Amino acid sequence: MGEKEFGPAMDENVSKNMRICNECGGPVERVKKDHRFVESGLDNVVLRNIEVDVCPKCGDSPRIYRINDVFLTIAASLIAKPFELTGREVRFLRKTLEVGIEDFARKLGVDRSHLSRLENGALAISRQTDRLVRTLILLHRPELLEKLTTLDIREKVLKRLEEIKPEAATVTVELRQTPEGYSFELARAA
Ligand SMILES: [Zn+2]
Repeated sequence: MGEKEFGPAMDENVSKNMRICNECGGPVERVKKDHRFVESGLDNVVLRNIEVDVCPKCGDSPRIYRINDVFLTIAASLIAKPFELTGREVRFLRKTLEVGIEDFARKLGVDRSHLSRLENGALAISRQTDRLVRTLILLHRPELLEKLTTLDIREKVLKRLEEIKPEAATVTVELRQTPEGYSFELARAA
């Protein structure tokens, strides 16, 4: 309700077989399927079972509802990740604060080029910096704590911050839409 929608405009009055592609004007079929949300800047996020308009020419066009909650839930999942953050994940979290490299580097107490190399994956993240990134994000986005509370994992996740495994394992983040908003599951990528 009143939330921004990401994707083609919605028109419930158009019957199913009359949906058209925003790109080419050809017919599209609306199906429910999983969508790898690379538009997030991460390649390990999957939106499970969402509406996608499929055009035979242009491909998939996902209809993502409550986009702010999607980004918040991805951020929550990264805070909850039991392994070290990757550079891309650090970049994603920084962007949820809407701050530039310069600002975030200052908050972390490192210089700009250090953070830049870290985000590019040229430099491994230290245990301390990893924890500090997560803690700063929680500090500056209080709605993240609310999200963790809603998902009933707040204490578990805060406790886990002390036990992040010093291992750069890739995880897959799966988001599902629920009546209360999105929820997430983490799975270790094969
Ligand atoms: Zn098309």
